[in-house]
Amino acid sequence: MNQDILNQIVSPLLAWFPKHKRDLPWRADREPYHVWLSEIMLQQTRVEAVKGYYARFLKAAPDVFALAALPEEQLMKLWEGLGYYNRARNLHRCAKALADRGGTFPRTKTELLKLPGIGDYTAGAIASICFEEAAAAVDGNVLRVCARVLDDDRPVDTPQFKKELSEALEAIYPKGHCGDFTQALMELGATVCVPNGAPKCGECPLGEVCLARARNTMLKLPVKLPKRGRRQEEHTLFLLRCGDQIAVEQRPRIGLLAGLWQLPSTPGLLSEAEAGAYLSGLGLGELQLRSARDGGHIFTHIQWVLRCYELTCTQMPDRWVWAGPEELAARYSLPTAFRQFLN
Ligand code: SF4
Repeated sequence: MNQDILNQIVSPLLAWFPKHKRDLPWRADREPYHVWLSEIMLQQTRVEAVKGYYARFLKAAPDVFALAALPEEQLMKLWEGLGYYNRARNLHRCAKALADRGGTFPRTKTELLKLPGIGDYTAGAIASICFEEAAAAVDGNVLRVCARVLDDDRPVDTPQFKKELSEALEAIYPKGHCGDFTQALMELGATVCVPNGAPKCGECPLGEVCLARARNTMLKLPVKLPKRGRRQEEHTLFLLRCGDQIAVEQRPRIGLLAGLWQLPSTPGLLSEAEAGAYLSGLGLGELQLRSARDGGHIFTHIQWVLRCYELTCTQMPDRWVWAGPEELAARYSLPTAFRQFLN
């Protein structure tokens, strides 16, 4: 890595950050619990979407001990709609481990990495922002900014590139300003050196240093490895209503959306006649079809193609849990893939 160029980004970034940083709720202090929670929530999720969840989460679990003591069902309910539910499970595991050690966070990246569910990025963010360690936190924003500043056209989404960049950045971390430097790099990537469309080079504090800008290669960078295609799965869902009660069932404890709740479903896209045949004999009484809607949901590696039949029935067989609107809202975590058909 071109260490000379990297050395030149420190001062402009530190001067730019205090004037241009967004006013975000998790930046009110540098409490490790707040930084950790926000960093986990922000992975794969937009800032605007996270704000409401962050506030609700802190209200329900204001500290590590409260989070550790939260029943899993309640935790999943709080997380409902945020996606990537393993993040919530890992938060829980980590909160329990932290509670066991008296509720305090380790102060170094190396020690933070020993906690369950804390990876290289999160450990670097907590260590630098909360404890002023020269520990890089390399996320997609940082990879993009650095690939452009250095005009580096190697694929950035490889362990080797991330490791090399982490080490190169850690060599330039400014003593006493490590937290600001971490946040400034991320902030520049989120607001100026943006991922979709042209970067705003005219407003960039690194405009004078940036090799991609000088060589007009910004839009070709960062280079990424070709993506593996998503596996496609088809499912038919049933929105079964008996009065104001709706049938739901719990997903298996392992696998995709493990342990969360769903509308009754069966593999494949059933025609109306096939759906009727499937439901007959399940003890639902008199069935009446109200609507049929197609939808879908995209996960990292899988794409669901969904068809949902809404039906009314006159009996509530106990193969499913039946819940009214209030109970459904308060108690059962129904991911967006299913919730889209409730409205
Ligand atoms: S000058 Fe442009 S390409 Fe270079 S870091 Fe700034 S916004 Fe990104």
